[in-house]
Amino acid sequence: MTLLDGKKTSEDIRKEIAVKVADLKKAGKKIPHLAAVLVGSNGASLTYVNAKVKACEEVGFGSTLVQLPETISEKDLLLKVKELNENPDIDGYIVQLPLPKHIDEHKVTMAIDWTKDVDGFHPQNLGRMLLNLPCFLPATPYGIVQLLDRYNVETSGKHCVVIGRSHIVGSPMSILMARNSKVGNCTVTLTHSKTKNLAEICRSGDILIAALGKAEFLTADMVKQGAVVVDVGITRVDDPSKKSGFKLLGDVKFDEVAPKCSFITPVPGGVGPMTIASLMMNTLQAIELRTKV
Ligand code: NAD
Repeated sequence: MTLLDGKKTSEDIRKEIAVKVADLKKAGKKIPHLAAVLVGSNGASLTYVNAKVKACEEVGFGSTLVQLPETISEKDLLLKVKELNENPDIDGYIVQLPLPKHIDEHKVTMAIDWTKDVDGFHPQNLGRMLLNLPCFLPATPYGIVQLLDRYNVETSGKHCVVIGRSHIVGSPMSILMARNSKVGNCTVTLTHSKTKNLAEICRSGDILIAALGKAEFLTADMVKQGAVVVDVGITRVDDPSKKSGFKLLGDVKFDEVAPKCSFITPVPGGVGPMTIASLMMNTLQAIELRTKV
């Protein structure tokens, strides 16, 4: 069994980006600038956003954290989005989800200039991904593709089972795994909460991508010998023995599944750090993308 080490791979990617940023600086060109918008003070969101801002600083990008109160109106948030769209210094930005209940997430996502949408959630980016046109790939699926690529995991002709059909992970993942590219060319089954015989379908999967958000859902009896398992899930579970008071669990029961796998991602240290690395890759590509479209 080989561990798909997202922590190490993301560090490699960040080092590569840092070299490219240093080159841009030397050549007197613009350094990419990423902004992150955080509404409210949700603990998990704050952790994610801080990690993204820190990653920007480490590679030499410019970064701006825009912190807004939980009570901000949808109208005022949309004004902030407009301001970021029009700010020529900002090359890419993200609006950390989830947003408070009184704000329509779709409205906000749609208002983001898609050429600055480094999370890859805008319909333009999702549509362009489908058409293989220059675009930002959604950060988490892009990170998974990078991880499989850098470990030379063979995907062509394999049966890939994706669990979960969200717009940010499962659905785009299923499209990327079916594309005609090095990581791709799979026969994909996209499963969800209404899927019947899920365990049976999973057992026929050569590659399993679990993105449903249910801690330790995928058990050894659902996995065939030699499968590749990618665990996207992150669930906080109380753990008084930890300083933070919680631990993170994935969607895969790692201890019993890992021995059956050819490759598997851990949680933490698997897909999570790769999502941040993809965000950095998208931000690096942002200036170039804008000149292409
Ligand atoms: P979501 O809640 O939007 O979607 C969950 C999907 O799982 C739904 O499509 C639903 O149909 C499906 N599902 C639910 N129960 C199921 C069941 N019993 N059987 C089969 N399918 C079922 O979630 P999301 O935003 O895609 O996130 C999924 C998980 O991935 C969460 O734990 C989230 O925290 C994590 N996540 C991690 C990263 C990362 O960087 N590692 C990024 C995004 C999301």
